[in-house]
Amino acid sequence: MSERDGIGKGHREKEEPFYAGQGRILEMIAASAPLADILTRIVLLMEAQTDGLRCSILLLSNDGKHVRHGAAPNLPEAYVKAVDGLPIGPRVGSCGTSMYLRKQVVTTDVLTDPLWSDYRDLAKSCGLRACWSTPIISSHGDVLGSFAMYRQEPRGPNPEETRLTEAATHIASIAIERQQGHSMLREREARISLAAESADLAFWVLYPEQNTAWMSEKGRAMYGFTPHELLTRESFVSRIHPDEPAAVQAAFEQARASQQTFEIEHRIVLPYGKTRWVITRGRYLWDEHGNVLEIICVTIDLSAQKQSDLQLQVQREELARLSRIALMGEMTASLGHELNQPLAAIANNAAAARRFFDRGQIDPAILKELLADITAASHRAGEVINGIRGMARKGKSTRSRLNLNDVIRDTLRLVRSDILIRETAVVTDFDSLLPDVEAAPVQIQQVLLNLIMNALDAVEALPPAERRIIISTRSLKGKSAEVSVRDFGTGLPADRAEKVFDHFFSTKAEGMGMGLTIARSIVEAHAGTLGAEDAEAGGALFFFHLPAAQRLPINKAA
Ligand code: ADP
Repeated sequence: MSERDGIGKGHREKEEPFYAGQGRILEMIAASAPLADILTRIVLLMEAQTDGLRCSILLLSNDGKHVRHGAAPNLPEAYVKAVDGLPIGPRVGSCGTSMYLRKQVVTTDVLTDPLWSDYRDLAKSCGLRACWSTPIISSHGDVLGSFAMYRQEPRGPNPEETRLTEAATHIASIAIERQQGHSMLREREARISLAAESADLAFWVLYPEQNTAWMSEKGRAMYGFTPHELLTRESFVSRIHPDEPAAVQAAFEQARASQQTFEIEHRIVLPYGKTRWVITRGRYLWDEHGNVLEIICVTIDLSAQKQSDLQLQVQREELARLSRIALMGEMTASLGHELNQPLAAIANNAAAARRFFDRGQIDPAILKELLADITAASHRAGEVINGIRGMARKGKSTRSRLNLNDVIRDTLRLVRSDILIRETAVVTDFDSLLPDVEAAPVQIQQVLLNLIMNALDAVEALPPAERRIIISTRSLKGKSAEVSVRDFGTGLPADRAEKVFDHFFSTKAEGMGMGLTIARSIVEAHAGTLGAEDAEAGGALFFFHLPAAQRLPINKAA
């Protein structure tokens, strides 16, 4: 150090320990030591540089209007207590005034300075005569507190004291700012945690720069992390279901690019193998230079909801099955006849063959024909039985690519006998360009059976010659397939047309009122719609649309 710095030669030997002392304080700051300890060390370091010097650090309260005790290890306790909590203002001693004015306030003699008029006696009783106070300013220009030097003799600061003041306010600002940052972060995390615990959510924040993360307690439990486990980006990635890292990654990337909130539903796998369904919502936060500061996320556990969705689906399927069985009860004529007819054919053919044998005239050509008929009839019987089993079967119906014209033909075959017995004419009008649909055949058959049986009921009261039903199909621009079942019966119940789809709504003596409810839920589960209206010339028109199946990757004709 030279004279140029305004510091006397006698101070040269003091410099080493001063810098060492500063270094230790910076280490304390880096190690997040308590702020009070750090400020006390700053004060003691400054006091050690000059004889007869006493220092203090005051902090500005959170409301920005009062002074709070910071550190003053060598000032009388009475003085410290009296100052703590004073408001800042234009005439509040040196410290309150310097914080208020945001500039250094040098009082060479407290006994005469008007700023001290209210505190003169206090200062005098504590043996304080001169007080030079400098505001501690943050890197953003906010007042954090003040650093003051006191002396027993009336005078202003010498150059060395000015230099010490600069050093003290600089280190103190680092310490206070850092501590404020920490406590703000802790406060924010505590607040988020509280909200998270009560809302049954996981909150987490990822700091990409440091590759560290914070997660609320509930979140740790949800993801299977221990309470004190250090979390990084990799910790989260390790929990994502093996099928889904790409999708999750894409959601994050898109949120980064679009600067929007992202949301993704995915699975996480816990260390002991349990899988959870979760939905994660989050967004990136940037600083003013465009660097990612943090990614804040909230994760909701959907497992319970998924479970109940699953149960609901099972219940729905069971209900649909029971209603199919009820429907089969209504189709008594058909089911019995459909089965009897091939069985009778088998019996007849077998009897004919036996007669040939009895007569001893065996014409191999006729025998072959009889056997072929028996085989065909047994196949037909087998198909009917399969159809009945399909309708009564439990469990999920698998979907396949279907042409609804074919499904209608099969369904009509199933109820042929009922149609005949009820003396009703059923006419079909098929669109040969009807697009295929992706559907569960048994379920679509159930819908059709419901509509057909209802139509048969609706025309029952008419004279046989007028009992008519038209079943038609139509392609809706190739995008969906429409099926309509139109009858010339009673028409929909007056003023209650929409009611026909309600649970248990029935105008029939023996009706359950579930058929259309279930039919609609089946159609909707296939992403379609089912509606009803009064037909123009009387009677009812029921129609449903199903979306066309995706085009086949290879040419069907090939
Ligand atoms: P259910 O046949 O057991 O009554 P649905 O849910 O199939 O149950 O039908 C509910 C009600 O809708 C019927 O009771 C009837 O009032 C009305 N409905 C259904 N189809 C027709 C139709 N084709 N014409 C007139 N009304 C109908």
